Amino acid sequence: MTPRRLRRLIVAAAAAALLLGAAVWAVLILRGAGDGLDLSYVKTDLIRVNENSRPGLKLETVRNIVIHYVGNPGSSAKANRNYFDRLGDPKANPAGTAASAHFVVGLEGEALQCIPVTEIAYANYPRNGDTVSVEVCHPDESGEFLPATYATLVRLTSDLCRHFGLTEKDVIRHYDVSGKLCPKYYAENAEAWQSFLKDVAGALQP
Ligand SMILES: [Zn+2]
Repeated sequence: MTPRRLRRLIVAAAAAALLLGAAVWAVLILRGAGDGLDLSYVKTDLIRVNENSRPGLKLETVRNIVIHYVGNPGSSAKANRNYFDRLGDPKANPAGTAASAHFVVGLEGEALQCIPVTEIAYANYPRNGDTVSVEVCHPDESGEFLPATYATLVRLTSDLCRHFGLTEKDVIRHYDVSGKLCPKYYAENAEAWQSFLKDVAGALQP
């Protein structure tokens, strides 16, 4: 091989390596919410940045994972995600209602991420500044979660604990923040809540 051909080959190889690197980087960025959390079973479906549901403020520390129920029996994860997004539209939300959560877990066990975990959500005042919130769908007024929903919630909660260096002791109900009856079934049934925490602890075992 002539030195000139060798040089061309090296330039081509370097260009290919650069392209490959850029492609890998783009896939990583596009796949997740860009917040360092990469969960294969969670679909990234971010809501628009707006003052009512995604203020775009930095979430500096996370001390607790807070569990909620959507309070709208039979509604899907997507419908709840879209509701949070619509709060950012002044025409759809003239009253300026503020609400959101980082994640919504649906009736079939699907999980959507609405807000990066590096940003504040409006879910449990006055603890929005140091918590990550998960909204959970439920089929009826009792507020009890379906088995598929429950399984994803245990998985997601334990993965969030691992990500933030927390344990099941740091997982709380909205009820524990403000006394609001949320998540209803687990605020009314202390044993059901303890059993959920036990399942999260089990999932955290190496
Ligand atoms: Zn709540």
